[in-house]
Amino acid sequence: MAGTSPDWIDLRSDTVTRPDAAMRAAMAAAEVGDDVYGDDPTVNALQARLARDLGFEAGLFLPSGTQSNLVALMAHCARGDEYIVGMDAHTYKYEGGGAAVLGSIQPQPIPQAVDGTLPLDAVERAIKPVDPHFARTRLLCLENTWHGRPLPLDYLARARALCGRHGLGMHLDGARLYNAAVADGVPAREIARHFDSVSVCLSKGLGAPVGSVLVGSDALVSVARRWRKVTGGGMRQAGLLAAAGLHALDHNVERLAEDHARAACLAKALATLPDVANVEQHTNMVFVDVPPATLPRLRERAESHRVRLSIGDTPRLRLVLHLDVPDDALDRVVAVFSREPRQ
Ligand SMILES: *Cc1c(COP(=O)(O)O)cnc(C)c1O
Repeated sequence: MAGTSPDWIDLRSDTVTRPDAAMRAAMAAAEVGDDVYGDDPTVNALQARLARDLGFEAGLFLPSGTQSNLVALMAHCARGDEYIVGMDAHTYKYEGGGAAVLGSIQPQPIPQAVDGTLPLDAVERAIKPVDPHFARTRLLCLENTWHGRPLPLDYLARARALCGRHGLGMHLDGARLYNAAVADGVPAREIARHFDSVSVCLSKGLGAPVGSVLVGSDALVSVARRWRKVTGGGMRQAGLLAAAGLHALDHNVERLAEDHARAACLAKALATLPDVANVEQHTNMVFVDVPPATLPRLRERAESHRVRLSIGDTPRLRLVLHLDVPDDALDRVVAVFSREPRQ
């Protein structure tokens, strides 16, 4: 497929990055063992590294963020328990209903505010009394960043206090935790410390090909490890993949600021164009509205400029910056949205 060739600029997501030569060399050099026996030194190093960095006792390497969130929910909640979650959250809307399907856990979705927070009065109202009529409310699940937006740090502290008062656990879908930390100008553990468990994707802006890590207490992670095996996520010589994750943590965290800066540049340039409205930029994401009638032309221009965009049927588009988008790519992206004939 044309879009997989490296001379295309792919802004569909930050999942599309390819491991560079240095990351591949780190993978090739990885010491490995059978991780189901706990024998893979590179997996163990990655798990310990993220647990330490984020201030938790233990970590667990998983093939995907979806599975990491799933086993976290299953570790926090038993059959008949419920978690409170945003109506548009990944852990509710974009994970195939896994918590309900596989965990017998009831989601209690509530509408998010535009900044991605769940209003705490609504959270409090959603907590059920202890009564056999109701599922047992056990957990609040948040997402940071949320459509690129970092959740306000003072909100996290207030959410933590609320959960403490009601005996709820707190899980963070931190697929893009490091984007939030870089944007907030704080170490990632300053965000993570409000939660009982955090799932981090290595395969988004950090640029690893595969993998997420769940961190939490020893007790929580040992339950999650069991569910990882049950759900088919026990991998063997996974150190090859964990090595890419370690390399990403060493080399690709601070550079997220470059993606954010590039996203800001792109947003600024797009905002000057006549067919682009309501431009918003948050960390590595840019959102724009285009007139619906221009969608077919936009598709055609994207193709001819070798730019991959997610162009659906709605006028709101999301453009995602990442480490495979160089500075000189931005002119080509802007040209897709412009009315000028192709140079
Ligand atoms: C990507 C993502 C995940 C996990 O997705 P996988 O593709 O399963 O790794 C979870 N939450 C959010 C917000 C994400 O963007």
